[in-house]
Amino acid sequence: MTDVEVPESHPRYESLLTRHRIEAGVEKGITSQQGLIAQGRGEAFDYLLGERTLPSADEAERAAAAHLLLAEHPVLSVNGNVAALVPGETVDLGDATSAEIEVNLFNRTPERMEAIADHLREHGAKDVKGLTADGRIPGLDHERAKVDADGIGAADVVLVPLEDGDRAEALGELGKVEIVIDLNPLSRSARAADVPVVDNVIRAVPAITEHARELADADRETLEAIVDEFDAGEALAAAERAIREGERAEE
Ligand code: ATP
Ligand code: MG
Repeated sequence: MTDVEVPESHPRYESLLTRHRIEAGVEKGITSQQGLIAQGRGEAFDYLLGERTLPSADEAERAAAAHLLLAEHPVLSVNGNVAALVPGETVDLGDATSAEIEVNLFNRTPERMEAIADHLREHGAKDVKGLTADGRIPGLDHERAKVDADGIGAADVVLVPLEDGDRAEALGELGKVEIVIDLNPLSRSARAADVPVVDNVIRAVPAITEHARELADADRETLEAIVDEFDAGEALAAAERAIREGERAEE
């Protein structure tokens, strides 16, 4: 990946780097053109949130780690934006939580599925699911419903960063624990989640990994307590307050 020269001292360093990665993702056939629009929408919310991880988001990231560690069959869903922005970080999270990785696209084409799977393998993924597509999420039209029966189809906990609202709702209805990373606390995706992580995927994925490593030796009771104490409604409300009332509202 070509990370174009951006001086680290630039006040918008992270945001510019992110844009370059998405652009490179489009050039590589990993990210769809729609992905550019989604990124722009995300950036606007990140700006309003102060481009930082809120304390409430950190709590959500910790709850997400606990869920993934408690799971029997956790799966991390990857789309074109996630593959462009955090490929290696997603592989690290899979390693830290023994979760599988599945490519799952809203605009599904065989070329893009393959390009993303290759890209993830270049970043260390051993097994990439999603190409078999022998399972279906009920309640969605054919193309958007496709999953691997032994991947997301059989998962008890799924992490879906930047998921479309419809699919997030359909997955939630399947009775799976759903962790959504989405910078918009008002989006249907975030509202459908058991654990909404209102943070940039660039910060959120490494943060969940860090929590998982820290909790690696914790017993089930400790993990279950973290999960029980987490309040999704409160996390969404805290993020909305931070946006409406300004940067320091939560501190
Ligand atoms: P709804 O969930 O209400 O149906 P949508 O899913 O149709 O909305 P999109 O613009 O398609 O909305 O989805 C993109 C979502 O991903 C936005 O909510 C945006 O905030 C979020 N997003 C984009 N880039 C990032 C990022 N880097 N990190 C976290 N979230 C992001
Ligand atoms: Mg959404």
